[in-house]
Amino acid sequence: MMLSNSLYRAQERNELAVYYQPQVRLHTGQITGLEALLRWKHPELGMVPPGVFVPLAEKSGLIHSIGEWVLKTAISQNKKWQDMGLPHLRMAVNLSVSQFNNPRIVDSIDSILKGTGLSPEYLEIEITESIANKEAKHTTDVLNRLKKLGVSLSIDDFGTEYSSLNRLKMLPIDRIKIDMQFIHGIEGGEKDQAITKVIINLAKSLGLEVLAEGVETAPQLAFLSQRMCDDVQGYYYYKPMPAAEIEKLL
Ligand code: C2E
Ligand code: MG
Ligand code: MG
Repeated sequence: MMLSNSLYRAQERNELAVYYQPQVRLHTGQITGLEALLRWKHPELGMVPPGVFVPLAEKSGLIHSIGEWVLKTAISQNKKWQDMGLPHLRMAVNLSVSQFNNPRIVDSIDSILKGTGLSPEYLEIEITESIANKEAKHTTDVLNRLKKLGVSLSIDDFGTEYSSLNRLKMLPIDRIKIDMQFIHGIEGGEKDQAITKVIINLAKSLGLEVLAEGVETAPQLAFLSQRMCDDVQGYYYYKPMPAAEIEKLL
């Protein structure tokens, strides 16, 4: 209750921030993308993790205004970096279930892109398997409309929920992000290795890009490199950082 109430004022009080985590192309070591990750600096509690407050924001409906602010912030930041002459990168933004179900979501993304002038190819929308696999006309409509705008689409935390291969075949998805629980298990045993390998092969066979999340160690990286995973994201390379630090890095 307390958190939920203070979340109402967090936006006005400038307690929210967007951090960015680089995504790295495995074979070149080059940064090819950034993921926008929301942060809440609570005046008394310190950093509240999004895993805690995003579900609260979903329940109260605040996710719509907060989510729109994240989209605006990340998209205009990306445009600003491009205008400064920094490398042109893809900016990935997470969408939660209720944001996705908002009938205005596509128009809202379209108008933010037009307002900032960022070319849509530099925006990627991350959805979860539960959104992707919902057999609803709305889901297919929204994904097709986003695709038509020129935005790319990825499935986040792949492998953790129910997944339909038939849906994967039909939806206009560009990238699969392998959930970090499998990556963390690579050193621990053959099962997580097998799952990771299968997801990489599945993605490749369907002509999709594949990214491994939560890469922390050299052996994990070596395994992914041998299996021809395209991109990685994780503490091994970079943690999520505030905009000023990313700017220095780029
Ligand atoms: P996600 O989209 O799967 O984001 C990846 C999470 O993994 C981030 O946690 C990131 O900090 C963390 N991570 C990255 N590399 C490593 C690593 O090497 N090791 C470990 N242990 N963790 C790593 P974070 O920032 O706490 O975000 C958690 C979740 O909250 C996100 O998972 C996403 O589902 C949600 N979230 C974050 N920002 C937003 C947002 O703006 N909108 C919405 N709707 N959801 C968001
Ligand atoms: Mg994500
Ligand atoms: Mg994830």
